[in-house]
Amino acid sequence: MNQQILAIEDLTVSFDGFKALNTLNFSMDTGELRVIIGPNGAGKTTFLDVITGKVQPTRGRVLFKGRNLRRKSEDVIVRMGIGRKFQTPRVYLNLTVRENLDLACNRRKNVFSTLFGRPAASERRTVLGLLETIGLVPKADLQADLLSHGEKQRLEIGMLVAQSPDLLLVDEPVAGLTDEETENIADLLINLAESHSIIVIEHDMEFVRLIARKVTVLHEGSVLCEGSIDEVHNDPRVVEVYLGR
Ligand code: ADP
Repeated sequence: MNQQILAIEDLTVSFDGFKALNTLNFSMDTGELRVIIGPNGAGKTTFLDVITGKVQPTRGRVLFKGRNLRRKSEDVIVRMGIGRKFQTPRVYLNLTVRENLDLACNRRKNVFSTLFGRPAASERRTVLGLLETIGLVPKADLQADLLSHGEKQRLEIGMLVAQSPDLLLVDEPVAGLTDEETENIADLLINLAESHSIIVIEHDMEFVRLIARKVTVLHEGSVLCEGSIDEVHNDPRVVEVYLGR
């Protein structure tokens, strides 16, 4: 059964009269891995800001698992099951990989343990599972500042997953990464998509090709078109929007 995890209806966000999002309609099914592309200024960041409660809609509504997110705070939305990964990794550089994941697991359980308190056995298993998922078992005891940029991105994705979100929002995860690191992130997202719904915002079309089943193109605050990567790539409207800049 493919229920909709996210439904966005006639969403408009105005900043001093300027419509960053303009009557935008969007929906995705539970379990989808969706990529959103669009030229600079298309409204991609604002789109994520509204879903996460950072920005309130001027008009329209956002339904997550059928529940209206209107006036919900960012904290409440995280607890409802939406996790966001920003472009720059936000890991604790002075802690090891394992300690970063411990911290994220503790945050989920809302346990006020000290950073270096001994985690329960069930928690250690969770951390081990996360280390395996993100491919960082051999680096578990390495301080995070010694990781490559791609490894830091994977660690932060692991920290998000530790909080058991149903919907993961991932903003430009491969900017500045090598080809190998890019492939690692693609594999990780494809793996996570087996148990999560995921929206990825990305510019790198090679990466989009690696992961995308369905692509949504934003332009001037609305959905310009949707389809497979090839359909979108060959759509004259998309060509015009990108070449017109
Ligand atoms: P993208 O992420 O696709 O580059 P954004 O969502 O950042 O696009 O921005 C969409 C448009 O809204 C841009 O023209 C931007 O300048 C404008 N915008 C975004 N945030 C604000 C704000 N807080 N105040 C005024 N204008 C904004």
